[in-house]
Amino acid sequence: MSLKWRIALGYSLLLIVAISAMSGIIAWRFQQILEDQAEATVNATMRAIVQFAQQSSTPFSLEDSPMGALQFLFNSTNLATWNSATSFVQVDSSDGYPLAKTENLGSLTIPPNFGVSPVHDVNFRHIELGGRPFLVEDRYILEGTNAAVIHVAEPIDTLERTFTSAREAILIVLAIIVAAVIVLSIVLASQATTPIDALARRMRGISSDRLALAAASGTLGEPADLRNRHDEIGRLAHSFDDLLARLGEAIARERQFISDASHELKTPLTSINANAQMLLRWGDDDPAIRHESLETIARESADLAAMVNGMLTLAKADRGDEIPMEPVSLAQISSEAVQNAAGRAAEKQIELRFSHDGTPTVNGDPHLLRQMVGNLVDNALKFTERGYVAVRVGALGDKAWVEVSDSGRGIPDEELPNIFARFYRADKARSRAVPGTGLGLAIVRSIARVHGGDAVAGRAPGGGALFRVTLPRMAIPFTGLS
Ligand code: ADP
Repeated sequence: MSLKWRIALGYSLLLIVAISAMSGIIAWRFQQILEDQAEATVNATMRAIVQFAQQSSTPFSLEDSPMGALQFLFNSTNLATWNSATSFVQVDSSDGYPLAKTENLGSLTIPPNFGVSPVHDVNFRHIELGGRPFLVEDRYILEGTNAAVIHVAEPIDTLERTFTSAREAILIVLAIIVAAVIVLSIVLASQATTPIDALARRMRGISSDRLALAAASGTLGEPADLRNRHDEIGRLAHSFDDLLARLGEAIARERQFISDASHELKTPLTSINANAQMLLRWGDDDPAIRHESLETIARESADLAAMVNGMLTLAKADRGDEIPMEPVSLAQISSEAVQNAAGRAAEKQIELRFSHDGTPTVNGDPHLLRQMVGNLVDNALKFTERGYVAVRVGALGDKAWVEVSDSGRGIPDEELPNIFARFYRADKARSRAVPGTGLGLAIVRSIARVHGGDAVAGRAPGGGALFRVTLPRMAIPFTGLS
């Protein structure tokens, strides 16, 4: 069932139950008031009879000869007192035999009520007499052998008619209100859900081709009335726009990556292909050409392999949730990365320093973290001609950090914002002489971020480059490094 119908049904049911309960209570109270009035009338008559019976000077004492007294009360003269149009009175003996009754009862007899007792003074009941409904009060008077029961009956057909028509009126009003409530609920629910439907239709209508376009513009092109609303629907439309904008950025990033990657792969592939052609044509005749071509092919294919490896590492870091994490000593893996680079540093006669201030533990993948520090050390060695490369590890509060600085040429300030971008190589002319893929720093930042940290670049005190990676520190101390 759609949300619209559920809201409409919920509203309607709630209101119908509430209104029905209210009408029921009103009808019940109304009936009670009418009945109380009828009972009061009957009871007043009853009390008047009893009073009259007790006060009238009859030839018969009520105590000594109750039957005589009653027959006197209801004889032809006194009967007239009670012979009103509405009050019907009958006196029975205690065993239910009618002794006397008012004339308006005619041939009708009020049936006895054997349940009546002297203890329960007031007894009302409903009976049907000659096809009319009556309210009857029975009263047991005079105890002893001559006990008798007085019945006072009042026709209540007018009262019942009043109640029936009141109930009909209430039912008609109730039906009108229920119909109005249902219609109103549907209208309200439609008003609430139609814009959601419109938004959903619009989203469904966007094909995958147009999705990239919509994402780039950051809007689905919802009608202005959706976007300009200041309610939940408006916020929903804006949230979709935000989502699209982020999606757009992601799509653009992916496209850029694919185009950059193809471009970067194309250069070594073209060179390999050209050298292979040369080999085929002149390789057998000219050993110099053969040697040069094979050398180029070997170098370019190594570059290709490095680039593909870099892309695989990036892809792995991008799928961060699949990386198995364990407690790792940042000092230990940094020291290992430094050891791995010792040979290259010695070749270039560059001093390689390592120091650590504490042994902070981080939660991470040791291979990726080692590669992260290794990339920074490799770069520092690559872009430094003389002097030193220093790696320092430390901790501050809940953060662990590793810093790689060098005495090389440094990074110009205007390049700093870009150097972490994929395939970016600062100062193309100069870096052409230095081998590289332009992925190293992108990998550093990806690995840092997938571990909940980040990487920044700056200038070392001597003018060289300085890279600093900050990672969240784990509470447990790591004792692997003495
Ligand atoms: P690659 O080193 O393969 O070119 P990176 O992503 O590792 O790619 O580095 C991007 C660019 O940042 C490099 O081309 C270089 O211009 C600059 N760079 C990186 N590290 C240093 C450094 N230590 N000193 C000077 N420049 C650096």
